[in-house]
Amino acid sequence: MTSIARWHREEWMWTIRNAIAALAALVLASILSGAQVFREAALGSGGFNAGEAVRLLGFAIALTLIWTSAWRAAAQILASDPVSRLLHEGLPPFATLLILPGVNGLIHPFLSEKAVTIVSWMFVLLLLATAVWLGVVLHDNAEALVLGAVAIKRRISDAAERRTHACQKCGASNSPAAKFCTSCGTLLAQPSGRNDRVTTASDKDRSSKEMRRSA
Ligand SMILES: [Zn+2]
Repeated sequence: MTSIARWHREEWMWTIRNAIAALAALVLASILSGAQVFREAALGSGGFNAGEAVRLLGFAIALTLIWTSAWRAAAQILASDPVSRLLHEGLPPFATLLILPGVNGLIHPFLSEKAVTIVSWMFVLLLLATAVWLGVVLHDNAEALVLGAVAIKRRISDAAERRTHACQKCGASNSPAAKFCTSCGTLLAQPSGRNDRVTTASDKDRSSKEMRRSA
């Protein structure tokens, strides 16, 4: 069991490395772009400087890392069940939809006024196409969404039932089917309607004892 957990951790270790690298790129870029020496190192005459260049580079690296991570994760997740299939097919369009506005913002400073309109329309079409792509994936994987919703609902109701099925003596939560506390062994009170027979039996027992006592 622990070896399986370790195997999974190693298999997904790159996601942590990528996340750290993306974060480092963003943090370093914002620190360096604010440094005076970078801002004073002008590049060309348009007010562009080394600070701006470093900032754009950092954001470009972070966006690339996020996007490639999503594709790699999608490739790594095998579509063996409905939820895995949803992730396998849905991660690439979802990540693309997330990073496209960022890419647009990155190239914006380099565009002439005329080019801005053309490029903006290009991005509008790209975003619409990606939204349609994601919509098709969600439509095809509606089963997974329903399964996911049902699983979440079941987990919530299970947790609620577990809480109500707590041991009166030690407070430990027990599975709804448990008759005795797994922690201290106390007989658990059964939820109403589940074993009326036990209640009637003990009632009968008590009434017979009372009868004997009075006799
Ligand atoms: Zn107990």
